[in-house]
Amino acid sequence: MGQKAATFPKDTLKQMKNHYKDHLEATPEWAIFRAKTNNAVITAYQSGKVLFQGSRPDLEFKKWISQSSIQKEINHKERKSTLQHHFHPPETLFSRNHIGSDESGTGDYFGPITTCAVYVKEEQITLLKEIGIQDSKNLTDEKIKELSKHIIEIEVPYSLMILHNEKYNQLQKQGWSQGKMKTMLHASCISSLIKKIADAPYEGIIIDQFCMPDIYEKHLTSERKKIDDKTFFITKAENYSIAVAAGSILARASFVKEMDRLGQLIGTPLLKGASSKVDQLIANIIRKKGEQILPSIAKLHFANTKKAHKYL
Ligand code: MN
Repeated sequence: MGQKAATFPKDTLKQMKNHYKDHLEATPEWAIFRAKTNNAVITAYQSGKVLFQGSRPDLEFKKWISQSSIQKEINHKERKSTLQHHFHPPETLFSRNHIGSDESGTGDYFGPITTCAVYVKEEQITLLKEIGIQDSKNLTDEKIKELSKHIIEIEVPYSLMILHNEKYNQLQKQGWSQGKMKTMLHASCISSLIKKIADAPYEGIIIDQFCMPDIYEKHLTSERKKIDDKTFFITKAENYSIAVAAGSILARASFVKEMDRLGQLIGTPLLKGASSKVDQLIANIIRKKGEQILPSIAKLHFANTKKAHKYL
């Protein structure tokens, strides 16, 4: 079963009803007409919206969607793919001096979001690979702690930021999406790192892609900031860039440390993630400490907050 939908002008709806006059069926409430062909069931609503559902809805849909709107759709797609292409890092960048940035904690109900940008010099890349720097998602908390110490020992410049829960919840209430928070965190880490390394040359900045580059730029513009010309985005960036991988480890290590600290603070170890086990833990914490503790340890807008009340 496929489905297509679009909104059409009144004239087109009239033409449609006439075109399908031999296929009309009982008209549902709120609809202008319903027709059934071998390809699809076509339902036209009073709002102008028309739904094509069935085995081959495209065949009916194509008859009505005008050439100009198809053209628009294609142009939009083309624009998106050029954007992707334009921000895609050149292959050579991964083996040169570059900056990489990654974040942690975005999918976890408890704890902050941490972000870290790392500057890696060409000659450090082999060493970092040798000590086992890789995507933090494949590593245990213990291994992450150990590797983060290594990274700091070999004096790789980095800039780390923690968005604590109070501030996170405040921004969220102001209407900031998590995407905007991440954007501003990455951008702050990167600019403070660039200040730190002063005149050290870098060929580019790689951000582990969490949204379309044009959205990233839009968030920056909304806070009157500009994107660095040499910024590139790629998904699963930690697999390509050792700087992003190192950033992912430092960000995760900081997140793990914050989770330990918050757990000690409230006298209950906190769970990562956002599963139903987290819901039960929230209920326990509310019982022990009251709901007023949550804004300082959790991302309140997650569905878990509501779900926890089932257990109370
Ligand atoms: Mn990431």
